Amino acid sequence: MSTVRFKALEAVMSRAPKEVNYPSAKVSDYFGSHVFDRNAMNQYMPKDVFKAVINSIETGTRVERKITDLVAASMKSWAMEKGCTHYTHWFQPLTGTTAEKHDAFFEPLSDNLVVERFDGNQLVQQEPDASSLPNGGIRNTFEARGYTAWDPSSPAFIIGKTLCIPTIFISYTGESLDYKMPLLKALNAVDKAAVHVNQYFDKNVNKVIATLGWEQEYFLVDSALFYARPDLVTTGRTVYGHTPAKGQELEDHYFGAIPERASAFMRELEVECMKLGIPVKTRHNEVAPNQFECAPIFEEANLAVDHNQLLMDIMDRVARKHDFRVLLHEKPYAGVNGSGKHNNWSLSTNTGVNLLSPGNTPKSNLRFLTFFINTIKAVHEYADLLRSSIATPGNEHRLGANEAPPAIISVFIGSQLTKVLNHIEDKVSENKALSADEKTELKLNIGKIPELLLDNTDRNRTSPFAFTGNKFEFRAVGSTANCANAMTVINTIVAKQLIDFKTDVDELISKGDKKDDAIFKILRRYVVESKKIRFEGNGYGDEWLKEAENRGLKNITSAPHALDVLKEKRIAELYESQEVLTHRELEARHEIALDNYTTMIRIESRVMGDLAINHIVPVAIRYQNILINNVKGLKAIFGEADYKKSAKNQLEMITNISTHIQIITENSELMRVERRRINNLLTAEERAKEYSLKVKPYFDIIRKSVDKLELMVDDEMWPLPKYRELLFTK
Ligand code: ADP
Ligand code: MG
Repeated sequence: MSTVRFKALEAVMSRAPKEVNYPSAKVSDYFGSHVFDRNAMNQYMPKDVFKAVINSIETGTRVERKITDLVAASMKSWAMEKGCTHYTHWFQPLTGTTAEKHDAFFEPLSDNLVVERFDGNQLVQQEPDASSLPNGGIRNTFEARGYTAWDPSSPAFIIGKTLCIPTIFISYTGESLDYKMPLLKALNAVDKAAVHVNQYFDKNVNKVIATLGWEQEYFLVDSALFYARPDLVTTGRTVYGHTPAKGQELEDHYFGAIPERASAFMRELEVECMKLGIPVKTRHNEVAPNQFECAPIFEEANLAVDHNQLLMDIMDRVARKHDFRVLLHEKPYAGVNGSGKHNNWSLSTNTGVNLLSPGNTPKSNLRFLTFFINTIKAVHEYADLLRSSIATPGNEHRLGANEAPPAIISVFIGSQLTKVLNHIEDKVSENKALSADEKTELKLNIGKIPELLLDNTDRNRTSPFAFTGNKFEFRAVGSTANCANAMTVINTIVAKQLIDFKTDVDELISKGDKKDDAIFKILRRYVVESKKIRFEGNGYGDEWLKEAENRGLKNITSAPHALDVLKEKRIAELYESQEVLTHRELEARHEIALDNYTTMIRIESRVMGDLAINHIVPVAIRYQNILINNVKGLKAIFGEADYKKSAKNQLEMITNISTHIQIITENSELMRVERRRINNLLTAEERAKEYSLKVKPYFDIIRKSVDKLELMVDDEMWPLPKYRELLFTK
C-alpha cells in the first residue's frame, strides 16, 4: 500500500482516547475563571474605577484616560495571579482569523532589576506589525500603520499564560480594518433606532441590545489522515475523493477507538470554553459522519461574536491535543453535508423584553408585530446585501448544494404567522380607522404562537432566514465565517428600517391618525410590499428556483458576483446614514473580499493541479503498467489469437486509464494557463470573477476523472486517504 496512506491508517489504529482534566466536578467552580468579568473587576478594581468602567460599558462611552492606569494595574494583578507572563491585544482583522502580538509584562530597569509593567497606555492602544494584514488599499504599505484600541465592552481573558485584551483594529487615519468596529457601530445604530420605536409602546425602554446565538458545525478528522491529504492541509477541503456509496459499511475495524476519542475532545472543549465564560452545549447529533455541532446559550451580539472566534481557536488547539484536526470549511467533502453556522438573532430591551417574542397582551403583541414585520421588510429591501455578507469561496461550494439553504434569500415565518400577516392585510385599510374590537382581535390573534413555534411543529429547515418562535435564524452563514459580517448587515438594515418606520408612522400621526391606527396601517403597507420575500415551501427544491425567478428574487451563486451589490450607491448611503462604514471603508471591504476569494480559489486550483500531476497520474500509470504486463503475460500464454478474450477487462481499463490521464493532464494545463492570464488582470473584481467563471469549471472536470481513477486503481496503491477512511463512523 502507498506508504503515506498506510502509515496514517496505522497511526489511527493505534490511538487511544486522551485523558480530560476537569478543574472541578462542578462547572460553577470554574465557569468564567479565565475572564476578567464583572466579578473579577469588582474584586480587583478600586470601587470608583469599577463603577466608571461599568458605566462606560453600559453607555458605550470611552473609559476616561485618567483611570486607565488603574484599570490596567488591576487587570495585571488578576492575570499575574493566574500565572500570566504575557499580554496581547486580540483583534479580528479581515483575514477571518484572529490576530495577536504577545508582549511580556516584565521590563528590565537596570542590570539586575526587572519589573512587571502594564499601564494604561499599553492597555488602551498598541501598534501591531500589521503590514501583511488585508486593508483594501486603505493603508499604503510604506506607511503600514494601524493600531489596535481596547474595546471595554468585551472582557479581557486568559489563554495559556497570556492576558488577551479584545480590541478594534483601525488605520492611523481612523478607518476600520477589522470586523469588530463596524459591528459595534451597527449595534449602536440598531440600539438607537429600536429605542425610538419602543417609545410607542413603553417609555421605560432606553437600551436595546442585539442578541446572537450561533450554532457552529464542524468535522473532525484524525490528524495523521489529515496530514496525508495535502489538499486538507492547504485548503481545508478535499479537492478529490470518491463519495462512498450511500449506506456503505464504514470500516469500523480501523476506527474502533474513535467515538471515545471524539467525546474526550468534546468534553475538553467544553471545559476550555467554560473557563472562558462561553456557555456552550456541545451536541453529537451530526448529520454527516464525523460532523458535530457546538452551540452556546445566546449572548449580547458583540460578546457572542468574540466567543465564536475564540471557540474556533480553542477547537483547533484542543483537537490537536487529541490527535484530531478540526475542519471548519463549509464543504470539506463533496457529496457529504457541508457545515454552516446558524446565526440566531433577536433584539432585547433593558426592561427584559425579547422584542421578537410574541407576548400575551394586546400591547406587547403590537410591539412584537412591529419588530417582526420591520425585520422582514428590512430583509426584503436589502436581500442582496444580506446575500453578500455570506459570499465567501467556502460558502460558494456549499450554498445551493441541496443540503444547504440556496443562494436565494427568502424569509420563512410559519403558517401561524402567515395567517396573522394575511389577516392584517385583509382587515387593515389605509383609508379608515380600526374599531377598538378589530384592534384587539388583530393583536390577540397571535397569542398562541410562541408555544406552537417553539414546539418545533412549524419549522422549515430549508429556509435561509427563518423565524423560529422568538428569534430569526440566519442559516446561510458559513461555518468559517466571522459572525460579525452577517451581524453587521442585519443590525444595520434593521436600524435603517426602524428609522423609516418611525418616520412613516409619525407622518400619519401628524395627519391625525391615532397611534395604533398609524402603526397598523404602516405595518400593513410593509406586509404587502415585502410579500415576495416570504416563502414557506421547500427551499431545496427545483420548483423554488423557478418560482423565485418569477418573483424577481435573485439567485446569485457566484460569490464575487454576489459582492457586486457593495458597489451600489444605496448601499453606501445605507452604511453612511447609519454611521457603520464610510464609502472608503466599504470599497476597501469589497476589494478585500474579492482578493480573499481569488487567493482561496487560486490555492485550490494549484493544489488540484499539483496533486493530479504529482500524486494521481504517476500512480495511475504505475497501475496501468501492471495491467499492461498482465496483458502481455496473457498473450504469451494464450497466444495472439485467443488472449483478447481473457484480457478483455484489462484492455478496457488500460484504455480508460489513458483517457482519464489525458483529461487530467490537458485540463490541468489549461487551468494553469487560465490562472496565469487572470493573475495579470488589473482589478480585484476582474480577477475574482474570472476565477469564478473560468478557473472553477476545471475543478469539476479534473475531479471527475481523478475520482474515476480512484475506483479503478488498486486500492493498495492509491496515495490519498479515501472518503471512507476520513469519514469514519462514530
Ligand atoms: P436548532 O433547532 O436550529 O438547532 P436550537 O433551538 O437548538 O435551534 O438553538 C437555537 C439557538 O438559538 C441557540 O444557540 C440559542 O442560544 C439561540 N437563541 C435562543 N433565543 C435567542 C434569542 N432571543 N436571541 C438570539 N439567539 C437565541
Ligand atoms: Mg439552527
